[in-house]
Amino acid sequence: MAKDPDPNGWRSTVKYPKRAVPEGLWKRCPGCQQTIFRKEAEKRMGVCPECDYHWYVPARERIRQVLDEGTFEEWDAELEPADPLEFTDRIPYRERLKQEQERTGLRDAAITGAGMVRGRRVAFGVTDSSFIMGSMGSVVGEKLTRAVERATEQQLPLIIISGSGGGARMHEGMLSLMQMAKVSAALARLDQAGGLFISVLTNPTMGGVAASFASLGDLVFAEPKALIGFAGPRTIEATIRIELPKGFQTSEFLLEHGFIDRIVRRPDLQSELARTIDYCGK
Ligand SMILES: [Zn+2]
Repeated sequence: MAKDPDPNGWRSTVKYPKRAVPEGLWKRCPGCQQTIFRKEAEKRMGVCPECDYHWYVPARERIRQVLDEGTFEEWDAELEPADPLEFTDRIPYRERLKQEQERTGLRDAAITGAGMVRGRRVAFGVTDSSFIMGSMGSVVGEKLTRAVERATEQQLPLIIISGSGGGARMHEGMLSLMQMAKVSAALARLDQAGGLFISVLTNPTMGGVAASFASLGDLVFAEPKALIGFAGPRTIEATIRIELPKGFQTSEFLLEHGFIDRIVRRPDLQSELARTIDYCGK
């Protein structure tokens, strides 16, 4: 489960202590294999200046990128994961949670709240793949569900960025699986109330996240070249024994086949969200 927390080798908000030799000034881009000056990519919101590859960015950084400065009010920040199954994989789940919390500064893989997008008040949620692969356990499900319910009550447009990875969190077993139904039901009520939900998918969005809230947007945006799907391509190929088409499960492929509505580059996301909210009259 918890593999490399930063598979792209990029954590733009990490502050390095001052040393004689500066660390991590340069990074290799997984997209074009070029060596990129870290500051240059940071200036571009974690987008490669050479090939437009979109790096992983942490949830807090996403908030800074999308919401107007100083407008974010966090909801349910005190919600903490528990360990009802007393689950142990390589290490006890309780221990893993403690390690992940210390390493990421997050209590769990989702942050929710209210904020402004170019002066428009919205309900906002974002998940972070660095926390146990951005998997959806009880806290992620509960936070997102409450955010959906507040969006419904307060008639706010809802934006959720699945910065995820995704999948139900196995350490909480059935309690994780039921989050898919819970958050989906809340989104159905938002829809019945005439609410607007814009889902933004990033690389990768898979498993239980893709199979629930991430796919249920009135509008589904995706970052370029993101991997989006339920099971991975190798699993599918091994199951159905058919060679998969080229580009299968990428944003571009899914746009062509109608699964997503628009590919939005990260630097354009804020203005595109504002424009969409206005267009929908919300
Ligand atoms: Zn590149």
